[in-house]
Amino acid sequence: MKNFDDLLQETKEYGVVSEVKFPIIKCVGLPSVRPDDLVIFETGQHGYVTSLTQENVEIVTFSREIVKPGVRVVRTGERLSIPVNEKFLGKVVTPLIEPIFDDDLEITDDVERRPVDIEPIKIDRRVRITRQMFTGVSLVDVMLPLGKGQRELVVGDRQTGKTWALLNFMKTQVELGSIVVYALIGKEKTEIARMRDFLTKSGMMQNVIILATSADDSPSLITLTPYSAMTMAEYFRDKQKDVLVILDDLTTHAMYHREISLLAMRFPGRDSYPGDVFFKHARLLERAGNYDVQGKEAAITCLSVAGTINNRLTGYIVSNLIGITDGHLLFDTELFNRGQRPAIDLFLSVTRVGKQTQNKVARGLNRDMMMMMSRYEEALDFSHFGAELSDEKKTLLARGEKVLHFFQQKHTLIVPHSVQVLLLTMIYDEHFDDVESAEIIRRRDVLIEKYSSDDSIRKEINDLMNNAKDFDEYRSKVKTFQTYLNQLWQQQS
Ligand code: ATP
Ligand code: MG
Repeated sequence: MKNFDDLLQETKEYGVVSEVKFPIIKCVGLPSVRPDDLVIFETGQHGYVTSLTQENVEIVTFSREIVKPGVRVVRTGERLSIPVNEKFLGKVVTPLIEPIFDDDLEITDDVERRPVDIEPIKIDRRVRITRQMFTGVSLVDVMLPLGKGQRELVVGDRQTGKTWALLNFMKTQVELGSIVVYALIGKEKTEIARMRDFLTKSGMMQNVIILATSADDSPSLITLTPYSAMTMAEYFRDKQKDVLVILDDLTTHAMYHREISLLAMRFPGRDSYPGDVFFKHARLLERAGNYDVQGKEAAITCLSVAGTINNRLTGYIVSNLIGITDGHLLFDTELFNRGQRPAIDLFLSVTRVGKQTQNKVARGLNRDMMMMMSRYEEALDFSHFGAELSDEKKTLLARGEKVLHFFQQKHTLIVPHSVQVLLLTMIYDEHFDDVESAEIIRRRDVLIEKYSSDDSIRKEINDLMNNAKDFDEYRSKVKTFQTYLNQLWQQQS
């Protein structure tokens, strides 16, 4: 990039810093500067123009070093942009694509650059969401399915396992060949390092880019993180790849955005957030979607995290985000404390687009299972009164219990979709009525092992699901498959 002196010669104009309220810097001069232009200070720091008034130019700096009044500043004539390239896969970088952990990251001049904040693509290049985005988590894939191109909120109190569940989703998507762009927004340095180590150890890093800012970074750099992540994702989308973008988290993002706005003396609105915070998030998330890229579908699926306090979904930022996204997975503290992993509340979570992407069998299972589980909830409330329960209710309670137990899984376990559907159908029908929950989990693990090592059984289980006309036909086919499965489970016990 050009330095201060070159640019001064080239543009023949400069401004002088008149007031500093870190990270906001006001300066006078620079007559031809435009909003969003990148500027360079005499002392080496970079910044970009956020607004222009008659008297001065307002600049936000990315650097932690303070710029003093009197320092000169020049414009570069360029918009705020970042380099985008495949070679950033496997790297941990700042939103300006500078390495965080001394990676060797050489960015040559021929690397494409793209602006970080762009207008979302209009409807004409978007296509209907028809492909399911598998997460490997049975609870999500069967009951709360997500589509490729969907925007889903991952919401819950602190320390309820949101990040861990996302790691599971990431692992599944990497194995299925997607690219993952993970934005860590204003996190602790140690968390960033932990994330990198985990991803490296589990062999996922070659398909992942981490864009991270830590709490010590400048607030303006922190607020840039999700935009850069989206720009990076768009690059891969334009290469016809499916991308999963994770923004962890947008409530922190909004807080830093508020900090900058208050310092810039913008008029505060509800909870002191600036009035444009909804617009900012909507414009950002609107960039996700399913696109037609030169005749091939490529999707940017966006999972954004939002933190709540005491499970309240009515906070300003969280309710905004609920309005912008196509549903939410609610992580519940009480479920977490009871030991459920992942602690997703089946009844209060929502998915608006995903169901249309499920195959006929899974959709039927989803519908019938949802009805069964709400009857289970009712029966559970009823049983608290100590009332005498009919045999039918007892069976329902036992099956519901087994379903919830089945949904428990370690964050490193990926359950193949056809195995999820097969075993849940077996719980839904009477096949597992005499089998303990722990034994069902053992059988699941045996089956997953067999599924991944034996091509013929994998084909058989997949065909069973894919060739069935509907859920009812599938159920009757599962009955005929039962003997084979029982043999398998007996052999392995
Ligand atoms: P924060 O809001 O602070 O970012 P979070 O909701 O992202 O928190 P995590 O960091 O994902 O929470 O999880 C908190 C802790 O819960 C983890 O450190 C881990 O010990 C435990 N945990 C979460 N999910 C699982 C799981 N599936 N299996 C085992 N342990 C888990
Ligand atoms: Mg987290």
